Formats: sequence, C-alpha cells, structure tokens
Amino acid sequence: MDLHDFSLTLDFAKKLDSEDTLARFRKEFYLQPNTIYMDGNSLGLLSKRAERALLDTLEDWKEYGIDGWTQGKQPWFNLSEKLGEMIAPLVGASADEVIVSGSTTVNLHQLLATFYKPKGSRTKIVADELNFPSDIYALKSQLNIHGLDPDVHLIRVKSQDGRFLVEDDIIAAMSDDVALVILPTVLYRSGQILDMKRLTVEAHKRNIMIGFDACHSIGAIPHSFSEWDVDFAYWCNYKYLNGGPGAVGGLFVNRKHFDTAPGLAGWFGSDKEKQFDLEHNFTPANTASAYQIGTPHLLSLAPLMGSLEIFADAGMEKIRQKSLHINHYFMRLLEEELAGMKFEIGNPREDYRRGGHVSLEHREAARICKALKENGVIPDFRAPNVIRLAPVSLYTSYEDVWKAVQILKKIMTEKLYEKFANEREVVA
Ligand SMILES: *Cc1c(COP(=O)(O)O)cnc(C)c1O
Repeated sequence: MDLHDFSLTLDFAKKLDSEDTLARFRKEFYLQPNTIYMDGNSLGLLSKRAERALLDTLEDWKEYGIDGWTQGKQPWFNLSEKLGEMIAPLVGASADEVIVSGSTTVNLHQLLATFYKPKGSRTKIVADELNFPSDIYALKSQLNIHGLDPDVHLIRVKSQDGRFLVEDDIIAAMSDDVALVILPTVLYRSGQILDMKRLTVEAHKRNIMIGFDACHSIGAIPHSFSEWDVDFAYWCNYKYLNGGPGAVGGLFVNRKHFDTAPGLAGWFGSDKEKQFDLEHNFTPANTASAYQIGTPHLLSLAPLMGSLEIFADAGMEKIRQKSLHINHYFMRLLEEELAGMKFEIGNPREDYRRGGHVSLEHREAARICKALKENGVIPDFRAPNVIRLAPVSLYTSYEDVWKAVQILKKIMTEKLYEKFANEREVVA
C-alpha cells in the first residue's frame, strides 16, 4: 500500500481497498446502506461479535440467574479483570495494571481521590486549556473537596494557536508547587498526540505525578504506559473500541502504586478471595482491580468481549498503520478536491503527532455538518469551526473516503449547506 501513484480516481480508491489487509473486518460491522460513517471517534459501530457477546450474557442471565456470577459462558465475577487483560496490550501494560470499570469521568474522580494528595506548598494541578470539559469539571470539583480554590490551584496551560499544545509550555508549567499533571493523550479537537514519554520523564524529574486521558487514543494508536512509567490513565471504551453507547470505561494504574489504597473504596475493589467475607474492614486487591467501586454494569461490559477479540485478531500495529495511511489519503483528497473552498486541515500532519481523525476547519462548519448528514456522511461538529471525520481502520474503506470527499465537494459547489442554520445541535 503506497500513495506514490496517488490519483483522484475511484479506481485508485478501489485498488487501495484491494490491498488493505484489514478489509476483511468490515463485514463484521453493521454498516447502514447509503451511509458513510465517519464518527467512530465519538461512538464506534456495533460489530457482530459485540452483539453476540451481549446476547450470550443475556442468555446466561436467563439460564443461570444469580449463578451467572460464577457460571455460564463468561462468569461475571471476573469479567472486569478479564477485559482489563484484553485491553492491556492496547495500552502497553501488564494485565493486572488495567481494569474495565466506571466511566471516564468517574475513573478520573477515583484516580484524583487516590493520587491527588496536596501537601505543604505542593498543591497545584496542571491541565490545559484545550482539555475536554468533563475532565476540567472533575479537577475543579476535587480541588473544591480539598478546600482549594480552582482559580489558584488549577493551571491550564495555554495553546499558542488554539489547536495544539507545545510540550515545552507544559514542562515550563511543572513548577515546585505542582502535585499532579493531567493531560490528554490525543487532543479531542485537533487530534494532536502529546509526547507522553517525554512529559512523564519531565514530570517525574520534578517529583510530579502524571496521568493521561486516553479517550481519543485507545484503539486508535498504540501506547506504552508501563514502559513510559506513566502513573495512571483512564479512558472510555465506546469510541474507537466499539464497546457500545455508555460502555464501561477503563483505567490503568502503574504497578508501583498498587499499595496506594483507592480514594473511593467500594466492595468490588476487594481482594476477590475476601470480597464475600463481607467484613467491614476493606482489603483492596493488590492490582488495578482495587480501583473499582461497585457492581460492574454487566450489560454495558459484555459487548467489549466481542469487540476486543477483533482488536486481538487485527493487531494494534496494523490498525495504526492503516489509520495513518487512510487518513493521509483522505487529506490528500481533501486538499486536491476542496482547493479554494476555505477549508483548513487543523490536525498535525506528521505521523508521530496525529491521532485517528481528521480535523477539518471551516467558518460554516456547523451547517456543513448538517448537509453532510443529510447526504449520508456522518461526521461530528466541535464548536466553533471543526468538522471531525474519522476513517476507522476496522470498518472504513478507501472507497468510503473517496465518496465522502465527493459528497463534501458537491455540498460546497452547490452550496447545499446554505439551507441550514450555522449552529450546533443539542448533541453535536
Ligand atoms: C469522550 C470523552 C470523555 C467522556 O467522558 P465520559 O465520562 O465517558 O462521559 C471525557 N474526556 C475525553 C477527552 C473524551 O474524549
């Protein structure tokens, strides 16, 4: 697969599809006719294997009732650990450093309650001004719980251009009064990958802990959290991992912290052997399992069994390779076909700095998105001017990408977006 003989033709797209070693996975997903789904970065599509896993869980409930916890196809009692083991290779961790539990925001609260320990003059948290709002709300509320004013104790590193963060700026903010750094692995708007390895080294040099929000990287790019010595990370499983709407999230805790008791304790964080002793003295597990709280949401957990199997079959390196390639092809097409139409590509161009989506900027982005949807292309819009489009390695074809660009070109040439208001929907 190379783009040396790049051409604008549909035949070229078809040729790339014929050379795509992941093409066989497309038929495992529910794709709708006459629709090109480019929003797998917000909600991944349902696969047949994920559907099967959910139906199996329902069958087990039907057949075993309470005994489903210990019997059936996949006993529920260890399912969160089992899924953690399946995700571990995707984040570069050992099986016992990952647990599938909670949701992104809940897991961040748990990790802050566990690892944010302001002491003396070391009280501040460094985040960034482009961070996802829910993370910022969680950080502010945790500061409030500690009686610390977020206006003073939360440092949000500025972006120089509104798109990207500069690692040097983040490192410059790591002063003596900083206890913790919380950053995204991949920025949700611009798709920039931060240099996690370097940031971790620099934080640790200054005795600062560092944690990452991996929502936009899990299943899109490989990670080496253990090797980089990251302290902790958390993410959702409904975006590139295709775990389904509201899928249970995940977290990573570096094994060197296993002796740190969870800030928010609950019985599912127990040492499994002890949990049903039902003692009032909590004995946490000596693994990432300890950071669970209550009973896992089984029906939001089950589809992951199927979808993670697909990741194991396909291989994260291959998924990343195709993602880089198909996005590169996509950007080339956009530049050729939409020249002069006032679009800007707002994601980094270098492979090592870009995640899984293309961030297309335009003054009329909100209503261009509406026109795209009306014409069968599913994007998402991020205010004020970003159209996010994600060709997903497991189910997007090069032909999809080619067609999506043709549709966008038609929308612009015929001004089909003008019949919509340029404002966002309630759920964008
Ligand atoms: C999707 C996303 C979230 C969502 O948080 P939930 O608790 O799962 O609703 C949080 N942070 C980032 C960066 C995200 O991309």
